[in-house]
Amino acid sequence: MNILVANLGSTSFKFRLFRFDGAGAAALLAKGGYERVTDYGKAIDDCLAELQAGGHVRSAADLHGVGFKTVLGRNLTGCVRADEKVIAALDGFREIAPAHNPPYALGIQRFREKLPGVPLVALFETAFYQWVPEAATRYAVPQAWYEAGVRRYGFHGASHKFVAERSAELVGRTDVAERVRRLYQAGLAPLAAGAKPLRVISCHFGGSSSITGIRDGVAIGTSMGLSPQSGLPQNNRVGDLDSAAVPFVMKTLGLPLAEVERQMTKEGGLLGLSGVGNDMRDIRAAAAQGNARARLALDVFIHSARHWIGAFLVELGGCDALVFTAGIGENNPDLRAAICGGLGDLGISLDPAKNEALRGAEGEITAAGARTRVFVIPANEELVVARETVRCLQAG
Ligand code: AMP
Repeated sequence: MNILVANLGSTSFKFRLFRFDGAGAAALLAKGGYERVTDYGKAIDDCLAELQAGGHVRSAADLHGVGFKTVLGRNLTGCVRADEKVIAALDGFREIAPAHNPPYALGIQRFREKLPGVPLVALFETAFYQWVPEAATRYAVPQAWYEAGVRRYGFHGASHKFVAERSAELVGRTDVAERVRRLYQAGLAPLAAGAKPLRVISCHFGGSSSITGIRDGVAIGTSMGLSPQSGLPQNNRVGDLDSAAVPFVMKTLGLPLAEVERQMTKEGGLLGLSGVGNDMRDIRAAAAQGNARARLALDVFIHSARHWIGAFLVELGGCDALVFTAGIGENNPDLRAAICGGLGDLGISLDPAKNEALRGAEGEITAAGARTRVFVIPANEELVVARETVRCLQAG
């Protein structure tokens, strides 16, 4: 089965082609992309021509599905066929995810026109949060705001769901792993009566970051809320921010709303704090040379991560597995050590040598005797989208 994963940005189109064998194992056959895209139809033609030239697909008939990692839809979530309803749902929330929803709506339309026989699948980033208890999804806003869509949705669902599945495998809970695999097709499959709860805290630390609490393979809450501009500080987007800040800076700095929005999404986060850049490598290098703002940016990130881990430790009533994933989580042992520092009484303790040695690969970094197992699980969101696309298509 050949599955193309299309990653659509406001001016970019990136793709990966995976081939799944009968046992469900995936091989990456090709990847590529184009910048400064103004015509998605042409980008799709170019992509198919590249795949043909590479000998991977002779025509659209050799493509068995295309998967899209859509972000947020109005009144729609899950892993579903990318049809008119998906396009309408993306359009309905274009204001909340302006950088993501319009390109996906347009891109899906073009794929439908260009590849009419090929099934298209949308995996919403919000899908993993369908079973979060209502109290954890609500803001204390007037009812009309809630009815307009103002609530917590949660993001990075593809990544956190993969962590839920893989961490269950790593701790030997094949029952939970199987439940997670089938989540979007079968919903909450019952576990065996008397099965011990499996409590996982998943830390996705990358260009954007979030922490999700997971019980028995299902999210119970997450640090991101209405938009991906919430929770931990992001690369150049603010994380959690008191709502009074927006009218305050509009009045005192004389900024129009559009400029406040631009600054919150382009000049906030680790960039705004550090003044150095939005890449963790640059911020760490500056901090190591004594740059106080860069050091502060790291400290704010660590503080925020501990805040959210603490929240889910209490919500879950303990933690069996703590997982670090994505670019920052996989490659920064000292940040992992700082985040886990002093938590021995809560069951969390790292083996310093194992932690230091583990970068960009899967492994366990738990100190001997610690109650909570701590893992690094590399993120590969395109592969997750491809797998969920296969599951969706096989379920019919
Ligand atoms: P992602 O969004 O998962 O691609 O992660 C991007 C973030 O991971 C950036 O802030 C990078 O600085 C950080 N990152 C990626 N590789 C490394 C590395 N080898 N060392 C430190 N940080 C890294």
